[in-house]
Amino acid sequence: MDRIFHSTMNRRIFLKTAAVGSILASGGIAGFPISTSGAASAHTLPPLPYPEDGLEPYISGRTLSFHYGKHHRAYVDKTNELVKNTDLAGLSLEELIETSAESQNRQLFNNAAQSWNHTFYWRGMKSKGGGSPSGDLAKAIIRSFGSVETFKESFSHAAENRFGSGYAWLVAQGDILKIMSTGDADTPVAHGVKPLLTIDLWEHAYYLDYQNRRKAYIKAFLDHLVNWDFVSENLDGN
Ligand code: MN
Repeated sequence: MDRIFHSTMNRRIFLKTAAVGSILASGGIAGFPISTSGAASAHTLPPLPYPEDGLEPYISGRTLSFHYGKHHRAYVDKTNELVKNTDLAGLSLEELIETSAESQNRQLFNNAAQSWNHTFYWRGMKSKGGGSPSGDLAKAIIRSFGSVETFKESFSHAAENRFGSGYAWLVAQGDILKIMSTGDADTPVAHGVKPLLTIDLWEHAYYLDYQNRRKAYIKAFLDHLVNWDFVSENLDGN
């Protein structure tokens, strides 16, 4: 992946995009390479990093069979359909997100961003996850939020208060970690900050298991599912 291209694109798009929260234009770049699509090759649905029932009892196999097997697959298929036989075929998901944000092609943006966001969400969880971060990540969280507990409270608050569909994120901007909340398909990839962790807040992520109890889903995510190794790798991947 060409990081100079990404830096330039992200900065340019950021400056043209409505401000999101307190995000500043001076930060690092979200270049997390989730897709590596070659020339003209279609985007593929990446395998889950665990079996569909691997997150039980906190997220059921039934939820994952729909969420991954139906919703995520549909976003990837639609992205392929939209770029097929166009100049955009062969671009990575990150490049499609940036390009469609700039051109305000909402249908492509929504499907490419949802394809990217879901892969990132799956990778941020694991069986017997949760608990607390360690090492440099823990230091960065304490430096930015004061304590791990304060981080968890801020993340939970943002997730609970996202009205309707969207995501809550832990992101890095330079040396500072921040909480970010985005609506619908929107993603830090389009805003020049580096995503470290996300929780999907669309009802399809939790309704079968928790119905309207989003707060219980968020607590289960933090207490039992977060893959802190994945978050550390993202922080290190400058
Ligand atoms: Mn989802």
